[in-house]
Amino acid sequence: MVALLDRSGRYLFVNRAYAAFSGRPPERIIGRRIDEVIGATAYAQVRTYGARALAGEAVRTEGWVDYGGRGRRYLRRVYTPLLTTEGEITAYIAFLLDETERHSAAQALTTSQALKSAVIDGALDGIIGIDAAGTIVEFNPACERMIGCPRAWAVGHKIAELFGLGGAAPGIDTGLASCLSGDLAPLVGARREVSAARADGTRFPVELSVTVVRINGRPLYTAYLRDISERSRFERELAMLAYRDAATGLPNRLQLLRDLETAIADERAFALVIFDIDRFSNIQNSFGREFATEVLIGIAEGLSAATEPGDQLARVGDRAFALVINGPTDRGRLGARLEAISAMMRTAATRSGASVFLTASVGVVAAVAGVPVTSDAAAAESGPVSDPPALASLPAPAVLAEDVLRDAEIATSRARDAGGDRQVWFDPAMHDRLINRVRTEHDLRRALERDDQLWVAYQPIVEMVTGRLAGFEALVRWRHPERGQISPGAFVPIAEETGLIVTLGRWVLGEACRQICRWQVEREPGSAPLFMSVNLSPLELDETDCFDRVTAVIRETNADPSWLKMEITESAVMRKPEESLVVLRKLKGLGIRLSIDDFGTGHSSLSYLTKFPLDSIKVDRSFVSVMHQSEENRSMVRMIVDLARLLGFDVIAEGIETEADANLLRALACDYGQGYHYARPMPAAAACDLVRGVLPWQPPATTRDDDEA
Ligand code: C2E
Ligand code: MG
Ligand code: MG
Repeated sequence: MVALLDRSGRYLFVNRAYAAFSGRPPERIIGRRIDEVIGATAYAQVRTYGARALAGEAVRTEGWVDYGGRGRRYLRRVYTPLLTTEGEITAYIAFLLDETERHSAAQALTTSQALKSAVIDGALDGIIGIDAAGTIVEFNPACERMIGCPRAWAVGHKIAELFGLGGAAPGIDTGLASCLSGDLAPLVGARREVSAARADGTRFPVELSVTVVRINGRPLYTAYLRDISERSRFERELAMLAYRDAATGLPNRLQLLRDLETAIADERAFALVIFDIDRFSNIQNSFGREFATEVLIGIAEGLSAATEPGDQLARVGDRAFALVINGPTDRGRLGARLEAISAMMRTAATRSGASVFLTASVGVVAAVAGVPVTSDAAAAESGPVSDPPALASLPAPAVLAEDVLRDAEIATSRARDAGGDRQVWFDPAMHDRLINRVRTEHDLRRALERDDQLWVAYQPIVEMVTGRLAGFEALVRWRHPERGQISPGAFVPIAEETGLIVTLGRWVLGEACRQICRWQVEREPGSAPLFMSVNLSPLELDETDCFDRVTAVIRETNADPSWLKMEITESAVMRKPEESLVVLRKLKGLGIRLSIDDFGTGHSSLSYLTKFPLDSIKVDRSFVSVMHQSEENRSMVRMIVDLARLLGFDVIAEGIETEADANLLRALACDYGQGYHYARPMPAAAACDLVRGVLPWQPPATTRDDDEA
């Protein structure tokens, strides 16, 4: 485009192109002033150039000119003065080349270039551009930071050379190097985790993804590298949380099970030991959680110190630790080692220096790989395994880690039930006992519902001086349809553990009340009323509605409370002395008599028992049965009897089995006696004769003669 302008800024000439650019015909341009034609805005941008040309300068310039409403144009321009022959400047010529199209494209290109580098340079991920020959063509700052190699070095080098940095031995970064230095095509589109090496040789995990674009038919690969060390650490921490105990940092139960699974899968022999801290809740309750945790940490440290190479330690419960000892078990050696650990625990000290006296119930199960033995008998036959009952051999084919842990826990609870501070080795019979318990509970529940298997036996209690029948003790009996007679010693404890004793006790009391009502009618005319002793379990005594239940039964059966005597063990009374006192006072208030059963087997003193509204003391069978063995034993019984009488209690002796026992106790002025010497517990029908006055231990002279004859 060409335009000729005079000194006053009026057009003298324009070519067709200029006219077209201006949007008007030449005749409407020529003679007009420039500002009129191109507009004030554009004029303001170009007028200095015209002025300079008029001043004699030839000006070259290019750039954007804004035409206001008509848009912006990129113009390359030359302004030259026009000289007359006299050398006077009367006009100037403007040559304009419209390069708007080209510059828009170039600018767009610069913008995308800028955008691209902004994206690549600012990216948090490492980005490596690699051409088809494996040469690095792009290497962003994130990559520089991640790998520790400058862009200036990387670009132009082969990708394979990059991973030879820092003298890294071949294979040190097998992951990333082998991925990137080989054929990249198979990697495209996939995401994988590989390990990468830094320039200094340290390794870190990387998530790698590769994309490809084709430029002129040749592939250009872009590898994106994301440093996932943080994420991996986080994942590890999460795993830590799931498989570690937070307080002690030890592996937890879940981890232990995983380790046991591995040991079992590898058919390794190992022993699992559980240390269950005795009475730990006392520490918690008396000194608080914080201190208790400190104690636990102390124990964990002590146990860790006691481990040998190959041992594994874990925390498997609130107050329980497990120790896995790998290798075959030598019972003697292991037993001694565990005893040493228990001894250490007895003087466990916390970090803050406080020392606590702790004992543990220790359960041990020795798992012997590959020996398919499950029962005692089979174990005995296997001979060389040695010490059969102590070894829980792995029953082939499948042993579960849970089973091994459960067995160790069964042994531990045995140790705890036996009073703690001891070691118990698992024996398959224990498992059978557990099964038996579950079954007994189930069957007992049914028996209580159906009311056709349980019955009550009555054992006479005799007035020692006269030999007269004074009363009975009601003793529950169970005739199991398949297992026959089950002794109360076998099912009463289970009933107590499961709470069934409450129902059972109520049922026995009902039977006993109905029976005593009948017998009071049938007894010898003129004789003193008989009493009925009924055992009250500690659990029943604990029940808040114990008193209500007893009164309800009495009301239902119309029994006179004064005929009833409740037998309670010392330990039942002592468990919660205040609460017991309240219930016992109420029972006593009704007129029921109260007796301490199995006296001498607990730890209460007679004088302490005077706080309770008791009527009698029943001396335990264990004292009576050894009375004849020594003078000492005899004095013991004498002392109990004397003291009890002094404190105002009646004395009943249980377990009188011989005439001699009876004579001795009579001589010691014991009030009542009970035992096989007089009669065994018997069905109610059999006891009717006794009630009517036929007493086998007091046969009429004539009968005795007949017998002898
Ligand atoms: P216990 O209350 O001390 O009962 C006395 C136990 O000694 C009874 O055993 C009785 O049969 C036994 N016995 C009696 N005389 C002799 C003797 O001369 N020699 C020997 N060796 N033993 C004798 P049993 O009937 O097996 O009862 C055992 C325990 O079961 C009872 O001890 C009692 O604690 C509990 N028990 C029995 N029936 C009931 C009940 O209905 N309720 C509750 N809560 N416990 C019961
Ligand atoms: Mg009793
Ligand atoms: Mg007893």
